[in-house]
Amino acid sequence: MLYFESMEKYGHEQVVFCINKESGLRAIIAIHDTALGPALGGTRMWNYKSFDDALNDVLRLSRGMTYKAAVAGLNLGGGKAVIIGDSSTQKNELLFRTFGKFVDGLGGRYITAEDVGTDVKDMEYVRMETRYVTGISKALGGSGDPSPVTAYGVYVGMKACAHEKWGNDSLRGRKIAVQGAGQVARYLCEHLYSEGAEIYITDLVEDKVKRVLETIKAHVVKPDEIYDIDASIFSPNALGAILNDKSIPKFKFEIVAGGANNQLEDEDKHGKMLMDKGILYAPDYVINSGGLINVANELEGYRQDRAMKQAEAIFEIVKRVIKIANDQKIPTHLASNTLAEERLNQIGGIRKIFSSHSGSYGRIGELMKH
Ligand code: NAD
Repeated sequence: MLYFESMEKYGHEQVVFCINKESGLRAIIAIHDTALGPALGGTRMWNYKSFDDALNDVLRLSRGMTYKAAVAGLNLGGGKAVIIGDSSTQKNELLFRTFGKFVDGLGGRYITAEDVGTDVKDMEYVRMETRYVTGISKALGGSGDPSPVTAYGVYVGMKACAHEKWGNDSLRGRKIAVQGAGQVARYLCEHLYSEGAEIYITDLVEDKVKRVLETIKAHVVKPDEIYDIDASIFSPNALGAILNDKSIPKFKFEIVAGGANNQLEDEDKHGKMLMDKGILYAPDYVINSGGLINVANELEGYRQDRAMKQAEAIFEIVKRVIKIANDQKIPTHLASNTLAEERLNQIGGIRKIFSSHSGSYGRIGELMKH
């Protein structure tokens, strides 16, 4: 792979390769853009087939974080890290403390968090070596499980879509097909149920569905039946790449709004396919940004009520994305990129005038200075 060319292509500022013999650490930290603030993004631990696969992943994911933070209105940039290795056998204190040292060495330009293959406990080891880490447990002053805030953001984002489609944001009596009965879906279903929606739910794991049914009533369907439900809304909260050539032709849904990451298998093709079918798609990284809003709040001294309040703004953000899509006759996933780029150019531009990340950014600005 041509490293500088790849960085240039995606617009990265800095990529750091970390290696340590004693711990066996091999990691890459990618800082995509710090125009809005320090680059925040999780650390993924994965047994990549090749070094190039790892680098590709971290470049792609860190860029995604820049857009996510920009659209969510946060004063944060985009970054991500990958640790190359098997998360089921190779995790230990030394590995994560060593990684923490590397994060610390970046002086606050990059702030990490948990991601696929890493968890709260790993981040607590990282915390022993650096304060540039979020997603630690509530007991240690962190924000804990982000799912309630993510789910709330998905809920209000779904209401924004309803408002666009049907002229009011009520979900009462609407049939909603929910894929996945995990953490996000569980809290989401509680909001939907208390508003009077009729829920169809599925999960590969029966016990997950059972747990959801302890607090709400829903029709249970098999995993492969969810795409065929005659419902007005589809809410994917399990896997990525579920909006594809096989699933979309089956859809009778009018709206797709869910928390799962990377829902479009092929962004351009399937984003356009949904638009052509008249299905309103709430871009995943916009509607699930409650998770990022939640960890960003940790930097200011965590309060869940404040994080929830901020997540409420996802309603207006989704409306703005839809307006851009309508005005420019483009799919919503491209409209959200436009909105993110607008903010990066405008606010990022102000930052350049003052040439430092100090000023009105509160504790986040402080973190950048140290
Ligand atoms: P989770 O692991 O708690 O739940 C996912 C559920 O999906 C599991 O119960 C799993 O059994 C089920 N599942 C997997 N494949 C399935 C299939 N084919 N059909 C039906 N069910 C299936 O995860 P979560 O925290 O609820 O996150 C859900 C999605 O939202 C993920 O894509 C995640 O990346 C994304 N997300 C989560 C957060 C958050 O705050 N937790 C934030 C942003 C994005």
